[in-house]
Amino acid sequence: MKALSLALLMSLSSLAFAQADVSIQSNVSKAQSGFYNYQFGPYKIVALQDGSNQLNRELFNQNISNEERTALFQQLNIENTLATSVNAFLIDDGHSLMLVDSGAASCFGDHLGSVAKNIEAVGYKLSNIQTVFLTHLHPDHVCGISNAGKAVFPLATLYVHEDESKYWLDPNTVTTLPSASQQKFKQTVIHIQQAIEPYQKTSSFRTFKDGAVINGLEVINTTGHTPGHRSFKLVSGDQTLVFLGDVVHSHQLQFEQPKLSVDFDTDPVKASETRIKTFDALALNKSVVAAAHLPFPGIGQIALNGNLKYKWMPLGSPATPATPATPATPATPATPATPATPATPATPATPATPATPATPATPATPATPATPATPATPATPATPATPATPATPATPATPATPATPATPATPATPATSALINPSAEKALPEVVEVANGTVAEPVVNETVKKVSESTNISIQESIRKEVTHTTEATQ
Ligand SMILES: [Zn+2]
Repeated sequence: MKALSLALLMSLSSLAFAQADVSIQSNVSKAQSGFYNYQFGPYKIVALQDGSNQLNRELFNQNISNEERTALFQQLNIENTLATSVNAFLIDDGHSLMLVDSGAASCFGDHLGSVAKNIEAVGYKLSNIQTVFLTHLHPDHVCGISNAGKAVFPLATLYVHEDESKYWLDPNTVTTLPSASQQKFKQTVIHIQQAIEPYQKTSSFRTFKDGAVINGLEVINTTGHTPGHRSFKLVSGDQTLVFLGDVVHSHQLQFEQPKLSVDFDTDPVKASETRIKTFDALALNKSVVAAAHLPFPGIGQIALNGNLKYKWMPLGSPATPATPATPATPATPATPATPATPATPATPATPATPATPATPATPATPATPATPATPATPATPATPATPATPATPATPATPATPATPATPATPATPATSALINPSAEKALPEVVEVANGTVAEPVVNETVKKVSESTNISIQESIRKEVTHTTEATQ
């Protein structure tokens, strides 16, 4: 019973959580389109839309021949420009808020720069963000951390790979670049310095090395787009979610032709190698991907689609078999479903009736055989001892003594006494049985006690395991 009620309690409490999740998600669906909530294990992931950019197709000009590019554009009906999202992601682990990239703010014009506004639209305060991970320092990822020389996230610590910091902030870097690239590089550095300056003043700008794990996020080396470009992996159970950064800039071109690199990759060849290697790993592991430049919300999965070809399966895509599809759909249907189920758990209470098996205890009524003890009264047949009186017939012996021999038949009555005696003999064993019965009772009680003890142990065990499990899950 205890185990049953415990299980019932637990299933009801999990239903309550499920309902809570559903209500959160349904609120999201009614909210503005600038953010999107995605539950990944214990983590609430919020995709934040910074805006959308138009990239000229001619920017995709690295690593393949012009003939191949032209054929690819024709094959995919790419005419002039490609619409490219700019996304950032917020991670709420229940204890702290983290941000991966921050959007472009005003560095590229009014069509971008909505990350901060959308964080507030979700209901978070900008001052509650404690950590900002930067996949790299390009302005469309870093400008959003500051506004007019002030930190947008005043209590946050920034993290960027040491190679990235060195590349952009070392004054000698520009001298290593072709002269044609130097002016653009210098302009980019100005944006970066303006963005990070408020954080440097409060010692909140930090670098990390490969192999680092920061607030539960593992660093993945995805160099190529920039020297210190890194992605971040979040793990929940056997599932992984990777914040990809700029490994890919166009879902139309680079899944079909992953060798194709974009003009602003600092190392187009390395960027291409990283893209193929990363796509393979993500597809193999069925990882959830959150990408900065894939169509908003930029969350989905990557699948193999032939030799060196891949396919982007956005969140909620019918082709997506795994978890990403489920969070979207359960949102609405789950709510009606859940109220129904709590009703049924109530009936499981009736399983309590299995307690009626306790009625088998009535077999205890066999104890009534104790009543056979009354046969003990046959002991009264001891009175047949009176047949001893037939001894008196001895007197009639004088007259019809021969006839009286018939009376010896009366000794037959002694025969009855003979029948009675056996019953009297039976009476003893029955008494013994009764005695056994009374002795047996403590045995039964002992058995019941043992069963109840073992049940208690198993309940305690299951509670202990549950608590352990919960504790582990919480960790
Ligand atoms: Zn970018």
